[in-house]
Amino acid sequence: MLSNSTIELDRAHLVHSVASWRGHEKAGVRLLSSAKGATVTDAEGRELLDGFAGLWCVNAGYGQEHIIEAATRQLRELPYATGYFGLGSEPAAQLAARLADHAPGDLNHVYFTLGGSDAVDSTVRFARYYWHSKDQPQRDQFISVMNGYHGSSTVGAGLTALPAFHAGFGVPLDWQHKISSHYAYRNPVGSDPAAIIAASVAELRAKIEAIGPERVAAFYVEPIQGSGGVLVPPAGWVAALHAVCKEHGILFVADEVITGFGRTGPMFACTEEGIVPDMMTTAKGLTSGYVPMGAVFLSQHVYDTIADGAGAAAVGHGQTYSAHPVSAAVGLAVLDLYEGGLLENGVKMGARLLAGLESLSDHPLVGEVRGRGMLAAVELVTDKANKTPLPAAAAPSSRIFDRAWQNGLVIRAFAQGVLGYAPPLCCTEAEIDQIVARTRLTLDQTL
Ligand code: PLP
Repeated sequence: MLSNSTIELDRAHLVHSVASWRGHEKAGVRLLSSAKGATVTDAEGRELLDGFAGLWCVNAGYGQEHIIEAATRQLRELPYATGYFGLGSEPAAQLAARLADHAPGDLNHVYFTLGGSDAVDSTVRFARYYWHSKDQPQRDQFISVMNGYHGSSTVGAGLTALPAFHAGFGVPLDWQHKISSHYAYRNPVGSDPAAIIAASVAELRAKIEAIGPERVAAFYVEPIQGSGGVLVPPAGWVAALHAVCKEHGILFVADEVITGFGRTGPMFACTEEGIVPDMMTTAKGLTSGYVPMGAVFLSQHVYDTIADGAGAAAVGHGQTYSAHPVSAAVGLAVLDLYEGGLLENGVKMGARLLAGLESLSDHPLVGEVRGRGMLAAVELVTDKANKTPLPAAAAPSSRIFDRAWQNGLVIRAFAQGVLGYAPPLCCTEAEIDQIVARTRLTLDQTL
């Protein structure tokens, strides 16, 4: 059978992202063969609702003809054009302009990457170059937030605060600093929003003082922490930390790789906090996962400082596939869909998803339900009063993932017993209700 031989080829030759390599050799791979809307079909013909939009990226849903046509047309007309040496392509310029239109404030300049990790990496390089251009090269220290994820490039993995991305890799951490997460469900200061904000502000101030305010280059946040377990900060948390950075002239970088493009409701989540970051990183929903692309948004002053700092010299940063015309054409088509009603649908379906998941709160295993828009999590516990996490041996996340799969649902099962949800924004009410119903069935089977 085709799928069996493919599984053998995969087992023998394909190195998977964030996987146990030895585990993969034994277990093989789960192959998907096709997809349409919010439904994916596996190699055995089983249809599943994709409650995680691939890897929180297929915001527009699968099989959107408008996107497919745009990509096909571009492949025929001009499949490649470099962005180096003053060359370019029409779709790249158009996309940059339309993105700048959507971006908050004066985030008017867009640098395209291949995904989120190199977008984050680019911001680190831009931040360093910015401070060199301002004659403050000693500003070489970076701060991020525990439970944060900022990709797995050598530099971004340091900003990432998930241990598996550091251990054994020799990630340079000496210029990277962390403050605690806002994680309301398990925060030592309790769940009161004002107390959480005050504690984070105090910790950031103390961290800046300890490093020396004149040494800090930039501070990184995800408006909602994704890979750390969908941790939603209290309203005002992002704005409060932004204000601290402004006091010290520290660059504020919003990592919107997950939260961008309608995932939490608006086009960009930081607009919900009324702030304009100095730089913003995006990927995933930018092309809805159809082809790879990321984007760094630069505010006017960051752009001008770097441009003036370089003067007539080239800013030595680039990738062969930056501003790739096919990715840009896809990005334009995806924007058409967002502007044409997909974001509104996401807002409606997000409210339904959250209400549906909240209805699971009566379940003995459900400790907390949290989320915003089409981004949500259910945190599982064995004892609600003490918030005792599921013991790994009794309910390893992968078994919950397996059960959900058997029940026709793709979710993300985080290691700490948290179930993650990020369905395509095109979901119907019936699909959202099925995601909730299949989750309940899965939890019942986990008891
Ligand atoms: N930043 C955030 C917030 C992410 O969630 C991710 C990926 O999930 C990245 C950066 C890295 O993006 P990529 O996997 O496209 O390199």
